[in-house]
Amino acid sequence: MDIVRELRSRLAADAVIAGAEIEERHLRDFLVAAPPGVRPVAVVYPRSTADVAATLAICNAHRVPVVPQGGLTGLAGGATPMAGWVVLSLQRMRAIEEIDRQAATMTVEAGVPLQLVQEAADAADLLFPMDIGARGSCLIGGNVSTNAGGNRVLRYGMTRELVLGLEAVLADGTIVTSLNKMLKNNAGYDIKQLFIGSEGTLGVVTRLVLRLFPKPRSLATALCGLPDYDRALMMLQRARAHLSGALTAFEVMWPRYYFHATEGLSRRAPLPQGHGVYLLIEAMGGDRVEDEPRFARLIEGALEDGIVSDAIIAQSLKDARDLWSVRDAAGEIGRSFGPGATFDVSIPTGELGKFAEVLTERLTARWADADAVFFGHVADANVHISVRTGAKPLPLHDIEEIVYGTVRDWGGSVSAEHGIGLLKKPYLGYSRSPAEIEVMKRLKAALDPRGILNPGKVF
Ligand SMILES: Cc1cc2nc3c(=O)[nH]c(=O)nc-3n(C[C@H](O)[C@H](O)[C@H](O)COP(=O)(O)OP(=O)(O)OC[C@H]3O[C@@H](n4cnc5c(N)ncnc54)[C@H](O)[C@@H]3O)c2cc1C
Repeated sequence: MDIVRELRSRLAADAVIAGAEIEERHLRDFLVAAPPGVRPVAVVYPRSTADVAATLAICNAHRVPVVPQGGLTGLAGGATPMAGWVVLSLQRMRAIEEIDRQAATMTVEAGVPLQLVQEAADAADLLFPMDIGARGSCLIGGNVSTNAGGNRVLRYGMTRELVLGLEAVLADGTIVTSLNKMLKNNAGYDIKQLFIGSEGTLGVVTRLVLRLFPKPRSLATALCGLPDYDRALMMLQRARAHLSGALTAFEVMWPRYYFHATEGLSRRAPLPQGHGVYLLIEAMGGDRVEDEPRFARLIEGALEDGIVSDAIIAQSLKDARDLWSVRDAAGEIGRSFGPGATFDVSIPTGELGKFAEVLTERLTARWADADAVFFGHVADANVHISVRTGAKPLPLHDIEEIVYGTVRDWGGSVSAEHGIGLLKKPYLGYSRSPAEIEVMKRLKAALDPRGILNPGKVF
């Protein structure tokens, strides 16, 4: 029997879409489109783990590759299908099954949008802290499969730290249910970690037990201008020591980024241009009366000691949003900066200032008119970079070689939070040793011996 007929014989009538009925949106993620003319053989919309298991068992028997898809906001091509593949879209598995207040957990299906997870936690007077700009479109299963980062990693960790239990289906249809709710569980290997961040290459995530936290009662935000990156490092030490673990964001913006995110977009700059670096700092705590004065004392002390040259402390939620809008303009700066190559890399926090200097020198040595902007979650060692040159077309490969080569020289990571997917495959070896990549390949062969799950992604 052909694969589409077999899938249709096992799943509900509306669960398998083939041929011209396949929607275009399934042909790409946020950045990477399938090559022109490439069509998957079918898109399957399971409603349960059993549907996922049936789909995978059939595809495995036919040796037809499968690409899992969440909200398609990925930035590395991980969810992009190839010709003749089956797309497995988790978007109809949208149940929020349980909120357990004693365990502080939420059990969900993989197709729940991140924003609905956040709202459900909030309605229970709890917090699911992971937050990214794509919150309305990305699905929690996609977040887990990419080990997404975002703005609050500094305090709560990457998505990996927010998952207590997980259910996944292996390539042959075997269901592995490990819906653990306990913070401590050292009974053998922690199997869930294999599926977190493996970009749909080792199994399909179907259900999750997420960790919830007390909802913060205070929020303090400030934008600071500092003379240089070394002062930003001094400020980080102070903030960690003075805020007793309440620090939630420490976002550094280099001056070229600050210009393009304010005046370059015809927006009022909250602080004047001309500082060595700009810092957006945020703390969340449990007590407004104590937390806000403590935060103000931190900023005032840094001003007195010359660590910070100028600062604005938000006096309201609206002020805080206005200050964040400079950092959140990252997706728009292309309108001022022009089309460029973008990067999401990690470099040890203490060395990021020097890295930015050396990378800028290497780029301008190659192209005199090269321009680079730097901004990012520097306390997490994560910096985002955009690079442009006047050369047309943009010499993308050469720029990548310089940026990733410099990352390699610094012992950094070519992917801080967006994953490897297709886009960064050629550079995986810049951040992982041959022995590490060999272990990845052995895991893949053990869990997916026929190589049907998202083949050719990651390595
Ligand atoms: C505006 C914007 C802002 C962003 N900001 C951030 C940010 O701050 N930090 C960050 O880390 N990322 C960010 N991203 C990237 C993206 O949102 C994340 O990678 C997100 O986690 C992807 O989720 P998704 O549901 O869209 O997954 P998709 O794009 O659909 O898939 C991503 C990968 O996961 C696999 N996958 C999806 N679902 C499953 C499943 N159930 N089981 C197994 N594999 C699966 C896919 O095969 C693919 O390899 C941003 C993207 C945009 C567009």
